[in-house]
Amino acid sequence: MRITDHLEGDAIGKVALLDLTYPELEDLVLSLGQPRYRAAQIAAWLYKHLASDFKEMHNLPLSLRDRLAEVSEIGRLTPLEEVTSQDGLTRKVLFSLPDGHTIESVLMHYKRRHTVCLSTQVGCPIGCPFCATGQSGFERDLSPGEIVEQVVYFARELQKAGQRLTNLVFMGMGEPFLNWEATWKAVQAFTDPSRLSLGARHITISTAGFIPGLEALAQKESQVGLAISLHAANDELRDMLVPLNRHYPLEALIGACQNYVKCSGRRITFEYALIEGLNDSPSHAQELARLLSGLLCHVNLIPLNHIADCAWRGSPRERVLAFQRELLKEGVPVTVRIDRGVEIQAGCGQLRSRRGRQAG
Ligand code: SAH
Ligand code: SF4
Repeated sequence: MRITDHLEGDAIGKVALLDLTYPELEDLVLSLGQPRYRAAQIAAWLYKHLASDFKEMHNLPLSLRDRLAEVSEIGRLTPLEEVTSQDGLTRKVLFSLPDGHTIESVLMHYKRRHTVCLSTQVGCPIGCPFCATGQSGFERDLSPGEIVEQVVYFARELQKAGQRLTNLVFMGMGEPFLNWEATWKAVQAFTDPSRLSLGARHITISTAGFIPGLEALAQKESQVGLAISLHAANDELRDMLVPLNRHYPLEALIGACQNYVKCSGRRITFEYALIEGLNDSPSHAQELARLLSGLLCHVNLIPLNHIADCAWRGSPRERVLAFQRELLKEGVPVTVRIDRGVEIQAGCGQLRSRRGRQAG
């Protein structure tokens, strides 16, 4: 659809400004009979000053501000519920979308970093049995603007506190590679110097292993990081834990990873959720080490975060550490991820599933 198609009134709906690429924003400005440089001014208001109202854009003529408010809108997400962990370091927000669906995003504060974990879909079609999002079914893809706005929301909050957003992880609801076009458009908004201007190497995309997505990312020659949610090192177990494995089994996935490393020169992070008695024995660790041998990678261990209606439990600490020791012995770089926000249900999709999937 052309930008100008939106300008014919409410019947078609307002343009979501955060959906637009920079050239599309220029098109919009030109279609309103304005000089091109207004696009730069509007982009600065949206992404640098993080304006949430056209009234703030005081270097634009009043008539243009009014016209923009008629034909476009800045935000479409409404925060419904916010939960902060007791230590104040993790904050989760449940947003409602214009169609009544809900999504979650999380802000995590570290010593020198402020990281947003963002969603790309309402629900997820992959259906991993340990994941609250996967268990909630799939509704729809998010638009680029709906992805970008999650970040803009937290960037505003940080700005008020005199802080700056430093990192982004696509580890919220949904499979980013199944909504690739919107995800990549959002990445461009995050990295574009005239918009959020974040370093690509501070952005990580996490996937359940959708190989065409790995290939598409490798082609971008970007510094964006890649994380793969592995959770099992044999097909039998992984077919059950990550059903996408039935389409893209481990041999093909590891081959695609090798190609990715060759093309990008970048190390891959493998996420491995440890589930008591299921995938957490020393022999599972050895199997994992064999699978990853020779691959430029790093393993992140995280004890499973328990979700409702799922019998599985996270491995106890001793078992996590024993698994880590086994990997280290085999020469695999590995860290144990600090369990963030368990008490605020910061696990993917958990707050939303507690509250029900629709707003209201
Ligand atoms: N769909 C993508 C990105 C979103 S999920 C993916 O699967 O990679 C982000 C991460 O949270 C994934 O590594 C996923 O496996 C993990 N995850 C989901 N539910 C979890 C749980 N209950 N405990 C621990 N990790 C979980
Ligand atoms: Fe989807 Fe990722 Fe959850 Fe699996 S872990 S259901 S791929 S969001």
